[in-house]
Amino acid sequence: MKKQRLVILGGGESGVGTALLGVAKGYEVFVSDKGMIKEKYKEVLRHHEIEWEEEQHTAAKILNADVVMKSPGIPDSVALVQQLIKKEIPVISEIEFASKYTNATLIGVTGSNGKTTTASLTHHILKQELNVGLAGNIGDSFAKQILDFDFENYVLEISSFQLDGIVDFKPKIAVLTNITPDHLDRYEYKFENYINSKFRIALNQTKDDYLIYDADDEVIKKWLDENDIQSTLLPFSLVKTIENGAYLDKKNIKITINNDQIIMPTNDLALEGKHNIKNAMAASTVAHLLKIRKQTIRESLENFHGVEHRLEQVLKINKVQYINDSKATNVNATYYALESMDAPTVWIVGGTDKGNEYTELFPFVNEKVKAIICLGVDNDKLLENFGNMVDIIVETQFMSEAVKIAYRIAEAGDNVLLSPACASFDLFENYEDRGRQFKDAVRNL
Ligand code: ADP
Repeated sequence: MKKQRLVILGGGESGVGTALLGVAKGYEVFVSDKGMIKEKYKEVLRHHEIEWEEEQHTAAKILNADVVMKSPGIPDSVALVQQLIKKEIPVISEIEFASKYTNATLIGVTGSNGKTTTASLTHHILKQELNVGLAGNIGDSFAKQILDFDFENYVLEISSFQLDGIVDFKPKIAVLTNITPDHLDRYEYKFENYINSKFRIALNQTKDDYLIYDADDEVIKKWLDENDIQSTLLPFSLVKTIENGAYLDKKNIKITINNDQIIMPTNDLALEGKHNIKNAMAASTVAHLLKIRKQTIRESLENFHGVEHRLEQVLKINKVQYINDSKATNVNATYYALESMDAPTVWIVGGTDKGNEYTELFPFVNEKVKAIICLGVDNDKLLENFGNMVDIIVETQFMSEAVKIAYRIAEAGDNVLLSPACASFDLFENYEDRGRQFKDAVRNL
């Protein structure tokens, strides 16, 4: 029988992982990347004798595919993808392709913010008692882990772009952390399209599957009111009592599933901030569903200290706390960062604006921010919005200088917070680079 042809667009972590799984499952595989492929991935492709190209897409080698796996970074609007769609060649994502080759219990975590934190925390709890991998937009490729380890459970961090490329993908447990406008450039600037894309996580779920979601999120609530969904719903809330699901009762998180309740004091949470109480609720609900012991859940929450670049405590110098929240690439993430500040704050903000609307930050800025350091190529919008709100507002295009200015302004007891509310690409390679430069600059003070 002639081999099925699997073409992979994008030679990164998910692309190369999918290529390996594809070969193992008997496909003829071709990897094509419009940019350069990293040396370490080229080595893997050569080693496994997988055909590849870079800095081009050769149409003749792509349009003859039986199935195409597209990396999440490539928009549907590019001509080649349009051609594939026109020819009715399925264009799918890594989670769609890979999940066909495992019988593991899948836990899918999506949302605008909190995916990495919630997925990592969920994995951290589950791994105490279960055989579980962490994949998706995080760490090693899902496809490659299926090939190498074949875990019995996977926690998958899933972006909306991955969800756009699913057909049959069906997580046993889905988590939807929240929905705020993001990436609208990929959704014809229609918030609606982006919301629908996020809810695709529950597309194939039945009543035997679970959707855990933030019941305080108006966008989620409205969508659920207006659409039919099969999944068994398990909401979590900070403000109201939830009978089946999780809620905050004074200083305790209470989670009830089928009359079985677990109570966890929030004071014992290692992570700070209201948003992290929500993330902890979501992760613990997953764990409770999967019958992890209550004591294990409590202990895991006490000793999980978060993920790099997310409200990461860097150093205390002269009684000033330096905090790296470089991953805050939108206003909502920065909202929670500012909300969790418990001392006067020197705030480093700015970068590539994604159509930001800053008004929701005004109360926190008025209350907590003593100085603003704008770190971007174009800071006009920040100056316009916050210019009258603080006594000191300065501009720079160098992280080292931003940190030195912050050092001069901050007094004992203050915080210096990098929480940019913007993408990083004007001055940095990515948010990790921005966060690392911040930490280096702090350490060099
Ligand atoms: P994602 O993977 O969805 O980008 P992260 O866990 O990496 O989410 O967090 C991204 C940013 O959002 C960080 O600045 C973090 O402090 C903030 N954040 C984390 N959880 C939440 C939440 N539940 N709601 C809003 N912001 C959050």
